[in-house]
Amino acid sequence: MDLYEHQARELFARYGVLVPDAEVVDTPRAARLAAQRLGGRVVVKAQVKTGGRGKAGGVKLAVDPAAAELTARQMLGMDIKGHTVRKIMLAQPVGIDDEFYVSYVLDRAAGRFLAIASAEGGMGIEEVAATRPDAVARIPVDPAEGVTPAKAAEIAAAAQLPPETVPVLQQLWQVLVREDALLAEVNPLVRTDDGRILALDGKVTLDDNARFRQARWASEPSDPHTNPLEAAATAKGLNYVKLDGEVGVIGNGAGLVMSTLDVVAGCGARPANFLDIGGGASAQVMADGLAVILSDPAVKSVFVNVFGGITACDAVADGIVQALESVRLTRPLVVRLDGNAAARGRAILDDRAHPLVHQATTMDAAARRAAELADAA
Ligand code: GDP
Ligand code: MN
Repeated sequence: MDLYEHQARELFARYGVLVPDAEVVDTPRAARLAAQRLGGRVVVKAQVKTGGRGKAGGVKLAVDPAAAELTARQMLGMDIKGHTVRKIMLAQPVGIDDEFYVSYVLDRAAGRFLAIASAEGGMGIEEVAATRPDAVARIPVDPAEGVTPAKAAEIAAAAQLPPETVPVLQQLWQVLVREDALLAEVNPLVRTDDGRILALDGKVTLDDNARFRQARWASEPSDPHTNPLEAAATAKGLNYVKLDGEVGVIGNGAGLVMSTLDVVAGCGARPANFLDIGGGASAQVMADGLAVILSDPAVKSVFVNVFGGITACDAVADGIVQALESVRLTRPLVVRLDGNAAARGRAILDDRAHPLVHQATTMDAAARRAAELADAA
C-alpha cells in the first residue's frame, strides 16, 4: 500500500526526520484558516498517490491566506495523472540551498535493500538518472546489518551528500524497517538556507503482507482498485484480474486458470480476464463469477474450466445450473468438466440443455470452441 505524502511525513517525524510544519485540509475555507495558523505564506500540495505533482500543477506557493484559499479551490477536484485531488496539504515554505534525493528500496532479485542517493535531487531526478547515472549512487544494504553509522556515511560519501545527512539516512532506514516498508523515498531532502536538513516530500510503500503486525494501518483501506470490475469481484471474495482479450475465463485453482490462459492463447484467442473461483465452486460463487465476467462488454465467450477434486463436478454443474437462474446468459459458455464425478456433471448440464451452454471433454477442445465462438460473435 502506498501512503499519501502527509502520512509518509508523519512517519518520518516519528523517527526524527525533520519536516516543515503542515496541515491537511479538504475545503478552500479550511485552507485559508490553516494558512493563517501556519504564518500566511504556504506551499499548497495536492495529496495524490502519484509522483510529479510539481510539474502537473499540484505544488503551488501561496503568498497569503486568501491566495491559499484560491489555490485550494483550483487544486481540489483537479485530476493529476488519473488521480482526483480530494485533500491538500499546506506546508510552511522553506528557503532551499540544496536538494538531494535519498531512498531505500527492496531489491528482490538480490535479496537485499538498495540505498539510492544523489546530490542532484528535486523534480529533475528522473532526467539525472537517465542521462547521468554516475550522479546517482546505488549502495546495497544487507538487511541483517542495516544502516549503521558507517553504512550511512558510506552512502552519503558515494552520493556526495553533506555529512549532516548521515543521521537522516539512519532515521529513514528505521522508517523502512520498523514500519515494514518496501520503499521509503525522500525527494527532495533539502538543506535549508539556515542550514537544516529537512524532508520536503515523502513516498512510502508499506508491505501489505505485514499488515497483521502493523496495528496502525489495519483500519486504513487498501488502495482502491483501478478497475471497477476488479473492485466488484474483490467485494465478493473472488480472485479476478481484468485482461485485454475477448474470452472470459473461469477456473478452480490458480494453476488451472493460468494454464487455461495459455491454452486459450494457444488457440489464437486472447483471455479477457483471470478468474479463480477456488476449491468451493458453489452455485453462489459460480453466479458471482459469471456476473462479473458478463458485465465486461469485451467478453465474447466464456470458458469455464473445472477439474473436480474435493468439489465434485456434479456439484459444480448444479452450481452452473443454479447460476443460470439468477444470471442472464448473454454470451455463449463453454464448459469443460473433468475429474471427480465428471460424467454426472456433464449429464446435469446436458439435461438443462441451455442453448448458449456448450460442453467439451478436453481443455484443448473447449478452448478451441470458446475461441471460435468469440471469433464468430
Ligand atoms: P512532487 O513533484 O510530486 O515530487 O512534489 P514535491 O513535494 O517534491 O514538490 C515539488 C518541488 O517543489 C520540490 O522538488 C521543491 O523544489 C519544491 N518545493 C516543495 N516544497 C517547497 C518549499 O517549502 N519551499 C520551496 N522553496 N520549494 C518547495
Ligand atoms: Mn518530490
